[in-house]
Amino acid sequence: MATRPKKRHNIWIDFVFSIVIMVLITVGVLLFFSDNNKSASSSDNSDESEIQPSMIETIDSNYPGIKIITETSNDDFAPFAIQYPQSIHTDFNNSILSYIDKTKNQYIQTMSTYKENNGKIHGELNISFKTYLHNSGHYSFVIQTSSLSKGIDRLSEIRTFHLNPDTEERISIVDVLDNSEENLINIAHLVRTQLEDNQEVRPYIIIDQLEDALEPKWNHFSNFALTEEELVFYFDQYQFTVEEAGTPVVKIPLLQITDNLSQQFKPIEQAKSTDNITIEDNQTEDINNEESLQKNKEEKTTTSTDVSNEKQVALTFDDGPHPTVTRQILATLKKYDAKATFFMLGSRVDYYPEIAKDVQEAGHELGNHSWNHPDLTKMSGERVFNEIKNTSNVIEKSTGQQATVFRPPYGANNETVKNQTDLPIILWDVDTLDWKHRNAEQTLAIVKNNTRSGSTILMHDIHQSTADSLDNILQFLKSEGYTFVTVSDLEQ
Ligand code: ZN
Repeated sequence: MATRPKKRHNIWIDFVFSIVIMVLITVGVLLFFSDNNKSASSSDNSDESEIQPSMIETIDSNYPGIKIITETSNDDFAPFAIQYPQSIHTDFNNSILSYIDKTKNQYIQTMSTYKENNGKIHGELNISFKTYLHNSGHYSFVIQTSSLSKGIDRLSEIRTFHLNPDTEERISIVDVLDNSEENLINIAHLVRTQLEDNQEVRPYIIIDQLEDALEPKWNHFSNFALTEEELVFYFDQYQFTVEEAGTPVVKIPLLQITDNLSQQFKPIEQAKSTDNITIEDNQTEDINNEESLQKNKEEKTTTSTDVSNEKQVALTFDDGPHPTVTRQILATLKKYDAKATFFMLGSRVDYYPEIAKDVQEAGHELGNHSWNHPDLTKMSGERVFNEIKNTSNVIEKSTGQQATVFRPPYGANNETVKNQTDLPIILWDVDTLDWKHRNAEQTLAIVKNNTRSGSTILMHDIHQSTADSLDNILQFLKSEGYTFVTVSDLEQ
């Protein structure tokens, strides 16, 4: 009996108590969050009051899948102009962005501190970048930063980023040099020789620091770009030179270091001269191919027997299109009213569709030379099929006309490759080696010494020296009585 009222009383107190506690918790939570909001927004405000808001703009680049982000601020005291690439791949974008943000924030912070101390001179920050595309499909982005804080200390810095937009791969120098310490040692040695031979750098070298910087360790050579023709290394200002030398750059031609490169980064056409088995394959292929061409020709001969004594030559240009070289070649061909055949890479047609269209409009024959120049004999049938199919598709899309002939990269051919296409496979009998010597005189000399009626001449419309040699080549062949036809029109 005595417990009942007591119990009732306890329940009442518990009830009031728990209400009070709940209210207190709610108020506490609200206060906590509003306080956080307040401090967050107040720090935002203070940032904005110091540096004017920036403008961000996104535009397309000339490279598919790559956009250019431009961020500018016209702040009186700490203006900046920043450009960097953006892809559809998050990891790549984040790595670029974290570098950009770090650089920008450092600059803004330095300028803010300086301003607080009654600084008067305004700063400068410019970040821009260059894009290089290697034949393997890998991009190198070279980001160059130049900053001026407090009117002194002009700093420049170069950082490189890599991406293959198709595979999302981000290569390192270890990949390029085939993960071989021996290759690294060779490259380190070459870099050192070049730096010491460079009259603009040599006087400013601090030798102890140079030795440290070029010790053959992977991370010493991680700041690099892979261009179509060179492996380029960037070093830091003051890393091993005094200020006058700026940021030292060393460019090594890929042809000079072929043996040190992984297979996929070896220069185009190199495998052809080093792989004897492939060449033997080609010769058998060449004969088979001539037979099949002969068959095609037999159907045509009835209409063209009367001109069969005419001397003919088929000029072929591989690995393009190229924005300037191909155009120069087209102009020279037009001058001589010459028709030729262009074996194009799908990846390059994709970048320069308007050049491919120019080739088609000038009436030349369109050839398929694979998507990005792999050795097809080392690939599965399915991958070979896609290389050829994708290339034919992009050629037709860009020019409105189909590729009518196929030439495998390096002339490397086997049954698997042959089974993947219905296009006639076209090789050559005169190799100008223009990719190797890059010399207009030599290109002309090789043509003079090797061309006969019915010859197919191999050249590349990606080298300036080839374009420069063409006028003399056409002049010579014309004087010898040759007419210039496409490979499909060649009488054998
Ligand atoms: Zn080629």
